[in-house]
Amino acid sequence: MERLSRSATASLRMRPGAVNPHGRGIFPAMYADIDRILISHERIAEKVRQLAGQITADHAPDKLNGGEVMIVPIMTGAMIFCADLIRNIPIAMQIGLMTVSSYPGQSVRSQGAQLLGKKLGNVRGRHVLVLDDILDSGGTLGAVVPAVRAAGAAAVKTCVLLRKNRPVAMQTPVDYVGFDIPDEFVVGYGLDYNDYYRNLPDIVTLRPQAIAGQKKST
Ligand code: 5GP
Ligand code: MG
Repeated sequence: MERLSRSATASLRMRPGAVNPHGRGIFPAMYADIDRILISHERIAEKVRQLAGQITADHAPDKLNGGEVMIVPIMTGAMIFCADLIRNIPIAMQIGLMTVSSYPGQSVRSQGAQLLGKKLGNVRGRHVLVLDDILDSGGTLGAVVPAVRAAGAAAVKTCVLLRKNRPVAMQTPVDYVGFDIPDEFVVGYGLDYNDYYRNLPDIVTLRPQAIAGQKKST
């Protein structure tokens, strides 16, 4: 894990995955809020390709008994993971959406999974793969998987990019896992704090001031 000094944080601005599309001069305060990079965008990209390879092999036509595939990202955190993953899975698929909130606003611990909405389309007979950014208490998958089953899916599998190294997460059944990480609050690559930081390309921890101060980054 990289611990960032102030100057290293500044040099983040030069890293290819951290390029500000508006040019070098305007760097959002959000980069100064980073404590350390837990997983770089290069490692994420490599892992996403590996996961996609496994998922593609497991959903080959002879394994589907004529059924079709539906991918269900859990919004909003799984949005970026889903976008990258599905472009590496060369099979016909439909996308359904589930919106769940468990870290509302400025929470850094789960407040319990709340199903806020769904736009699943026709799940009946589909082989559904539920995607989430991170597995923590298991409450989110515990709410979504039964709901997808109840909608008539032929099979439901689960995939998370991250899993926190804590007993409740390690004991939650999940079919595909990207990285096991320490039990810390992380943001970036879709994960937020108060809806900010989702657009960071790396998965990072935040400086305590960024959380305690409830500072807004732009
Ligand atoms: P669980 O329901 O398993 O406790 O937690 C999963 C959900 O909580 C994820 O979909 C994500 O929205 C949120 N979550 C859990 N841990 C973190 C974290 O470290 N950072 C952020 N930003 N969200 C988290
Ligand atoms: Mg979530």
